[in-house]
Amino acid sequence: MTVLSRPLVGVVAVQGAFAEHEEALRAVGARSRQVRVPADLTGLQGLVIPGGESTTFGLVAGRSGLLEALRRLVHHGGIPVLGTCAGMIMLAAETTAGAQPLVGGIDITVRRNAFGSQVASFEVELDVPLLGAEPFPGVFIRAPWIERAGRGVEVMASYAGRGVAARSGDLVVTAFHPELTGDRRVHAWLVDRVRARRTTYEDAREEESGVRAQ
Ligand code: GLN
Repeated sequence: MTVLSRPLVGVVAVQGAFAEHEEALRAVGARSRQVRVPADLTGLQGLVIPGGESTTFGLVAGRSGLLEALRRLVHHGGIPVLGTCAGMIMLAAETTAGAQPLVGGIDITVRRNAFGSQVASFEVELDVPLLGAEPFPGVFIRAPWIERAGRGVEVMASYAGRGVAARSGDLVVTAFHPELTGDRRVHAWLVDRVRARRTTYEDAREEESGVRAQ
C-alpha cells in the first residue's frame, strides 16, 4: 500500500541542490530519503542524482564507496533514475574532457560547462514532448550538453541545436534544473515510472540472482 501510494525515492545528498529535489518529490506524492552512504540505497524505489559539481561529487562519493554502489544500482537498471545537470554528467558514459570518476548508465558523451562562461546561467522554454504540449521552463546553470548519443538513447529536448535531455528506458537525464522551477512534470514522470515498476532495488537484485541460479 505504502509502496504504491507514496513510493520512496532517494536523493543523493553528497553536495549540491538536493533539498529542492526532495521538495519536488514530496509535491508529487513521493517520500524522499537523503542518500550519503551505500546503506542509504536500501529499499529505494527510485533515485535522483542532483546538480552540483561533478568532480567534487566523484571525489567524495568515491571515498565513501557510494560511487561504486551507485554504479551497481544504475547498471542493474532495477529502479527509475533521474540525473540533473551534474547528475547528468555522473550518469553519462563519458565527458569530452576525458577521465573523471563517473557512475555511467546512459550511452551519451557530455561536454561540461558547454554553454560557456558568458552565458553560464539562463532560462529558456523547452519543447519536451514526453512531458506534454506545454513548454518546460529550462533553468541552466553552468550546464553540460549532450555531444553524442548512442543507439537506444532518445534525446528528449534540444536547445541551440544541442541535446539537453535524454532517456534510456527508465533512466532520464536533464542538463537543466527541473527542481528549481514550480513545474513538477519531470518529478511526476519519475514517480509515475516508480509506481508502474513497483520494485525496490533489492527486489530487482533478487530477481536477477534467481535467474542466475537457474
Ligand atoms: N558545471 C557543473 C559540472 O561540470 C555542473 C553544474 C550544475 O550541476 N549546475 O559538474
